[in-house]
Amino acid sequence: MTNIAIIGSGPSGCYIADMLAKKLKDAQVDVFDRLPTPFGLVRAGVAPAHQGTKNIVRQLERTFARENVRFVGNVHIGTDITYQELKDNYDVVAVTIGAVKDRVLGIPGDQLEGIYGSGEFVAWYNGHPDKADLQPKLDGSGIAIIGNGNVALDIARVIAKTPSELSSSDITANAAAAIKEAPVQDIYLIGRRGPLEASFTNMELSEFAELESCVTLVDPDQIPAALPDDFDPRSANTVNQNLETLRAYSANSADSKPIRLHIMFCASPVEISETDGHVSGLKLEKNRMVEGRAESTGEYFELDVQTVISAIGYQSEPIEGMPFDHSRSIVSNEDGRVEQNVYTSGWCKRGPQGVIPANRAEAMTVAKQIISDLDANSEASTKPGFDQIAALLDKRHVRSVSYADWQIINNAEIERAEGDKPREKFTRVDEMLALLD
Ligand code: NAP
Repeated sequence: MTNIAIIGSGPSGCYIADMLAKKLKDAQVDVFDRLPTPFGLVRAGVAPAHQGTKNIVRQLERTFARENVRFVGNVHIGTDITYQELKDNYDVVAVTIGAVKDRVLGIPGDQLEGIYGSGEFVAWYNGHPDKADLQPKLDGSGIAIIGNGNVALDIARVIAKTPSELSSSDITANAAAAIKEAPVQDIYLIGRRGPLEASFTNMELSEFAELESCVTLVDPDQIPAALPDDFDPRSANTVNQNLETLRAYSANSADSKPIRLHIMFCASPVEISETDGHVSGLKLEKNRMVEGRAESTGEYFELDVQTVISAIGYQSEPIEGMPFDHSRSIVSNEDGRVEQNVYTSGWCKRGPQGVIPANRAEAMTVAKQIISDLDANSEASTKPGFDQIAALLDKRHVRSVSYADWQIINNAEIERAEGDKPREKFTRVDEMLALLD
């Protein structure tokens, strides 16, 4: 028997588990997660109204239906069980812990109340237990969102939606109520570079055209007439579509709907001002684009905002004892190999870039590497696997959550949902565990 441990039950972890369990008939694959709930960012990151994307869960569920795959939820590797203990007890360890920490803006005022990283904001409206109590300050009329990626667009859209537009999503009741009450009138989406360099994709940008209460505005002077001749052909299609969508938005009338989303390019945040400890404005410097790079101009302007959300990317967090590249904030690896018998895949391997299909492709490659390394090693396994880990958890009074336990939680969330909502998530670990005893 080959005992395999996977740390993290997001898409990358599930895809590796699935392939190893399918191809290695004598293997037992144990997927650990620090939460009692599986599926990582599919549950806690994907926009609550993007139920089509969340349907990927149907595919991931099939992994746990395999006889030789075990879910071990509510077990924090690094706290409840050490990395070394995992290596001591498993023949192979795969690290798929994603990137959960927000990168910080690093400008004066960025620690004030009323400033949030996209990771914590998204975790809050998606019901992640770590951020259930965030209660972001949404009591002003202006909100700035820094960044030109799909996460920035997700956040803008969730804030701009009406209760009826969110009614068939799985946003938490608490977050939906806070957004409903928020007196927001102006949302500013700010990119430090131009529309040619924005990393958002067209399907996400186009969704704003359909919003009931929010009109999207762009300064037409910021939209290039055409792509430069030497533009990267791999992104030309998406960027051309984006330019077309932005042109349509630039013809919108500002007073046509109660909320305005201002998409602004070529501006870098330089300082967040405060009044009595609260955010009262955002100072930005205009940039000019030089060969794809943003260069500062020395010209400044201010926005009247009371909340700032920085959607500028994520970092992985080290687990004690695990080789970690602090300069890149990823698990140290060479093509997915971390150290002997330890592998990594997904955002913690290469940084927070790429959608679920890209992570699937990479997970397949890493799983093949694992299989090939196991084939090349003729020594019989001596590692005890989960029995030893279960004994340690018992001794440390850690209540692990099995897949059958998760199904109880899952069913309870579905049962308590009201109206068209697919589920009402439990946002506290205690609440979830109470269902099991
Ligand atoms: P992202 O696409 O890398 O966007 C990050 C943005 O932050 C970029 O516009 C970047 O600008 C900007 N930025 C970085 N540092 C900055 C700074 N100091 N000041 C100002 N701006 C700064 O990352 P993301 O939006 O977090 O998304 C992560 C991944 O998840 C992406 O692959 C994304 O496509 C995917 N995702 C997909 C969906 C979807 O398909 N619906 C939804 C959410 C996320 P520069 O370009 O100038 O560096």
